[in-house]
Amino acid sequence: MRYALAPVKIPVIVKKIFPNYIWDIPSIDNVIYLTFDDGPTPEITNWVLETLKTYNAKATFFCIGNNIEKHPNIFQNIIAEGHTIGNHTYNHIKGWKTKTKDYLENTIEAEEIINSQIQNSKTVNQKSLISTLFRPPHGQITLEQGKRLMALGYKIIMWDVLSFDWDKSISKETCLNNVTNKATPGSIIVFHDSVKASKNMQYALPKVLEFFSKKGYTFKAI
Ligand SMILES: [Zn+2]
Repeated sequence: MRYALAPVKIPVIVKKIFPNYIWDIPSIDNVIYLTFDDGPTPEITNWVLETLKTYNAKATFFCIGNNIEKHPNIFQNIIAEGHTIGNHTYNHIKGWKTKTKDYLENTIEAEEIINSQIQNSKTVNQKSLISTLFRPPHGQITLEQGKRLMALGYKIIMWDVLSFDWDKSISKETCLNNVTNKATPGSIIVFHDSVKASKNMQYALPKVLEFFSKKGYTFKAI
């Protein structure tokens, strides 16, 4: 996977060039916003949910519509645990290679699946929750696509720190250090809820939760 913007920590200048996108949530409180892209995924998602629960942590899951269709029960587990759902398109398309009309249709297809699953949820307090968060797969989104999605009411959620968990050329220790060295209060951090990223993610996530919990941080959903 190639990211459009691939430093571990997004430079301030990039955030200023794209001020309409959300890169972090500045706060005086010690809060970290963990995000998990590409699920729901059998085996991996339930492990992530259990691990988060151990630390009383909430997170945001940017799910792929097609994966929700394949694994609705796992998706329901995410909702039941009180995490936030975001849209990550129907089948992980690349914005720069997709016509805006097709990009919007693909995103709306995922939106319909997400919202119908939320409506089906047995968790009463989640029923009114309609997802308005969007993260572009591969970090690729054109200005026009971003503008049109925001006109539809979406918030475009980028990130502050990439863990690089999907990158098999880095060690699991490097993945962990990417997060512990670069995250600051209000950081939005990218992990992946996928088999591909699992070796690094399953090593780093519990240690990230432990590291920041000890420093007095809490983990919230966006
Ligand atoms: Zn993705």
